[in-house]
Amino acid sequence: MTDNYAVVGNPIAHSLSPRIHGAFAAQTGQDIHYGRQLVEEGAFAAFARGFFASGGCGLNVTMPFKLDACDFADELTERARAAGAVNTLKKLHDGRVLGDNTDGAGLVSDIRDNLGWVIRDRRVLVLGAGGAARGVLLPLLAETPERIHIANRTVAKAEWLAKEFSADAEITAGGLEEFPCAFDLIINASSAGLSNEMPHLPEKILGENCKAYDMVYGAEPTPFMCWAKARGATVADGLGMLVGQAAESFFLWRGLRPDVAPILQQLRKELQNK
Ligand code: NDP
Repeated sequence: MTDNYAVVGNPIAHSLSPRIHGAFAAQTGQDIHYGRQLVEEGAFAAFARGFFASGGCGLNVTMPFKLDACDFADELTERARAAGAVNTLKKLHDGRVLGDNTDGAGLVSDIRDNLGWVIRDRRVLVLGAGGAARGVLLPLLAETPERIHIANRTVAKAEWLAKEFSADAEITAGGLEEFPCAFDLIINASSAGLSNEMPHLPEKILGENCKAYDMVYGAEPTPFMCWAKARGATVADGLGMLVGQAAESFFLWRGLRPDVAPILQQLRKELQNK
C-alpha cells in the first residue's frame, strides 16, 4: 500500500520538497505519495489531526507552522526540543506523533559531507538569532567547534540564545558591530538575504581561508555570498541544507539514507536555468 506524506505551509506553492522526496523515493524504490498542502494560519492542528487520523504517515512542516507542529507532537526528539520547533512529524506504531527538527542535521551534512568544510576545532560565527539559528545550534555543537559566537541585530536575542545553549560549550553573543575574533566559518542564518540585503559587517571577521555559508538559496549568489567572496572567502548557499534536511526526514520515516548528490545537482541546474 502506498504511504502518504506531505509538506504543509503557507505559502507552499513553490516548495521543492515534493520534488526532492519524489526523487528520493524513486532512487530507493519506496512506494510513497508526497503532496503539498496549503493551510490557513490557525488551522494547522486540525489539518494534522485529520491527516494522521486518515492514515497519513508523516509531514514536513514549513513557515509559519514550525511552532504549531512542536505543540502538536506527542513526543519530541532532543534536537527538536532544543530547537523549540518541528519541521518533521512521524506517526509512530502506537498512534502517537513524534516531532523532529532536521534543519541542523541538513546544514551540518551539507557543510561537512557535500562541501568538505571542517567544523571541528574551528571558530564559528552564526549571524542571526531567529528560528533557523536556534534550530542548528545543537547539531553544530555536536561537531565540537572551538567556539561559537552568535551575532544578531537585536543583541538581546543573541545573548538569550547563547545562554540557553552554553551548558554544553562556550558560546558568546553580541551585535553586528563588535566581534571577539576572526572566524573560520561564518553561517548567515539571518533572513536579510530574502530581501536582497545583508547586515553591514566588518571585514576583519573573515579569518584566513574563511568559509561563508548562507542558508538562503536562489538562482544568484546572495548579497552575503558576494560580500564574502569579494574578500577571498569560499562561499556556498543553502540549497544543500534544504536537500539535507529532506534526506534526514526521509531517513526518519523510511529508515533509508538517500544519495543527495544527484537531486542537488539537478535542482542547482534548474535554478540556474530559471
Ligand atoms: P526568523 O524570522 O526567525 O529570524 C530572522 C533573523 O534574521 C533574525 O535574527 C533577524 O534579526 C535577522 N534579520 C532579518 N533582517 C535583517 C537585516 N536586514 N539585517 C540584519 N539581520 C536581519 O527567520 P528564520 O530564522 O526562520 O530564517 C532565517 C533564514 O534562514 C531565512 O532566510 C530562511 O529562508 C533560511 N532557512 C533556510 C533553510 C534551508 O533549508 N536552506 C531552513 C531554514 C531557514 P532580529 O532578531 O534583529 O529581527
